[in-house]
Amino acid sequence: KSGFISIIGRPNVGKSTFLNRVIGQKIAIMSDKPQTTRNKVQGVLTLDDSQLIFIDTPGIHKPKHRLGDFMMKVAQNTLKEVDLVLFMVNAQEGYGRGEEFIIEKLQNVKTPVFLVINKIDLIHPDELLALIESYNKKFDFAEVVPISALEGNNIEKLLEQIKERM
Ligand code: GDP
Ligand code: MG
Repeated sequence: KSGFISIIGRPNVGKSTFLNRVIGQKIAIMSDKPQTTRNKVQGVLTLDDSQLIFIDTPGIHKPKHRLGDFMMKVAQNTLKEVDLVLFMVNAQEGYGRGEEFIIEKLQNVKTPVFLVINKIDLIHPDELLALIESYNKKFDFAEVVPISALEGNNIEKLLEQIKERM
């Protein structure tokens, strides 16, 4: 089994921390050449029975900047072409305009989307439940997975759920 996974989310939600933890020493650099294609491979996780290829999707991360229609289309097409989208949010910050922007972009995408709620080490379980509830009202996520990329909580479970979709 192998598949392409796009990790999206606002800056500082923990995307790089997650990738570093998941891929760690197993990171495979695909090419030294500057990547001119629209999809930048961030890392490849090779497991016994599967290969998970994590890619960057430029254009969907930066709600602060005005993007041309073309850039936005490119980003949305990328999300349509991957096998799974991981939408990462910061548990401590809650649902905001940045998240709203991304959810709007996900509306026309048929690819399954996991909501990955990161930094759960910083919040109380009750807050987590409230957050999950508010996100579930906004979008039909294939899975909602709370994790701590920093402390490593629930990462294995998330990888299992990812593999099930490949
Ligand atoms: P990115 O911009 O989405 O790639 O975010 P980074 O991976 O660079 O993380 C931004 C900051 O959040 C860094 O200081 C990380 O150490 C911190 N961070 C990431 N994941 C967690 C987590 O699960 N818990 C806590 N407490 N901090 C985290
Ligand atoms: Mg990063």
